[in-house]
Amino acid sequence: MNFYSTKNKNISVPLREAVLKGIAEDGGLFMPERIPAAGKDLLNRISSLAFNEIAFEVSRLIFSPDIPDQDLKNIINETYYFSSPIIKFNRNLYVLELFHGPTMAFKDFGARFTASLISYFVKDEEKDITILVATSGDTGSAVASAFYKMPKIKIVLLYPQGKISEMQEKQITTYGENVTALEVNGTFDDCQSLVKSAFADVELNKKMILSSSNSINIARLLPQAFYYFSAYAQLEDKSKPLVFSVPSGNFGNLTAGLIAFKMGLPVYKFVAAVNANDVFPSYLKSGKFTPKPSVKTISNAMDVGNPSNFFRITDLLGANHELVGRVIFSVSFSDRQTKDAIKEIKEKFNYIMDPHGAVGYLALKKFINESKLENYNGIILETAHPAKFINIVENAVEQEIEMPEALKSCLEKKKSAVKISNRFSDFKKYILNRN
Ligand SMILES: *Cc1c(COP(=O)(O)O)cnc(C)c1O
Repeated sequence: MNFYSTKNKNISVPLREAVLKGIAEDGGLFMPERIPAAGKDLLNRISSLAFNEIAFEVSRLIFSPDIPDQDLKNIINETYYFSSPIIKFNRNLYVLELFHGPTMAFKDFGARFTASLISYFVKDEEKDITILVATSGDTGSAVASAFYKMPKIKIVLLYPQGKISEMQEKQITTYGENVTALEVNGTFDDCQSLVKSAFADVELNKKMILSSSNSINIARLLPQAFYYFSAYAQLEDKSKPLVFSVPSGNFGNLTAGLIAFKMGLPVYKFVAAVNANDVFPSYLKSGKFTPKPSVKTISNAMDVGNPSNFFRITDLLGANHELVGRVIFSVSFSDRQTKDAIKEIKEKFNYIMDPHGAVGYLALKKFINESKLENYNGIILETAHPAKFINIVENAVEQEIEMPEALKSCLEKKKSAVKISNRFSDFKKYILNRN
């Protein structure tokens, strides 16, 4: 199947090119030419399938015949040794835990799949590939972990100085080897625009093969659809209206859910839960998409003022806020409300939630109140392990929480990052000299 640019459907490229380029030459985002149907047959027997079997059946609809079935199975099996369990709170409410991968955030699902696909596609390339990643926190570590020590691949991570948690910073600045971290004097949006400018720069693209692994890469996005199917598979009563609440920043996770929905997953509503960065709920109200500078919050991986995947959403649902609003409900919450929610979830359900998931909880609650649903399957996507935000969470629940071994060992390592301004000329000079 080919992939077109959201800016111009006449720009259409094969899977390999869409994955390696990451972004279309006109700056648009790649989308599959068609969203294939998962079919009633798959949905009927989905409860009996393991995560990797669901991943295979869903992905082959898009990747076959570009990737032969056996290769695709191998890619999936080397990518996923962890899964995505749902935890039941009560008869209506579940949490989908997406933090069982190596870096303990949902980004492992997309990043590891992309790494496997890129290495599959570049087996026979002569030049090294440089992968540029702007990160608001968890993308960086997921990508670094996925590509760490992979031959012929160099990773450059850009993160906003002082705007990610200590744990997140440690997770991206302690790899070494083929991974370099750039500490940018600016915001996440600056990091993202440096990456976008690099892809548009003729000289850079002549001298090196650049690739991206942000959620703008379609290979990051498509595998995130797997766990929406897997969550559905795990539900006891599938006949109730299904509501997914997705803590959102760059809206990649939500877009993946919409792709699953377009493939036939019976979803009643998506809830796009956001923090003070409220460009999306404002759009649903006013019909105007007005990017703003990002604001710093305690759910920092969602501090995005110009969500890149917005144009994929309008591509999927129609460029009209009323059409989009039929499928997606969106609401914004403050840090104060988020902290209170962490406490409330602990008290009501004896569950420790991270700040991102807590925003998801609040947004789902708000939607249920407004829609007056009484019987439903509400699934909150818990996008990161609470220990990644240990100070905030311990403070909210007023008790100590356990730090998993993988995170503990990371905190003990020494940070290594290159400081850089937010000017493109500096960034360009840096990557040119580095090669
Ligand atoms: C990246 C991230 C998000 C936001 O996901 P998007 O796909 O960018 O909307 C939410 N929570 C956590 C923990 C994240 O790392």
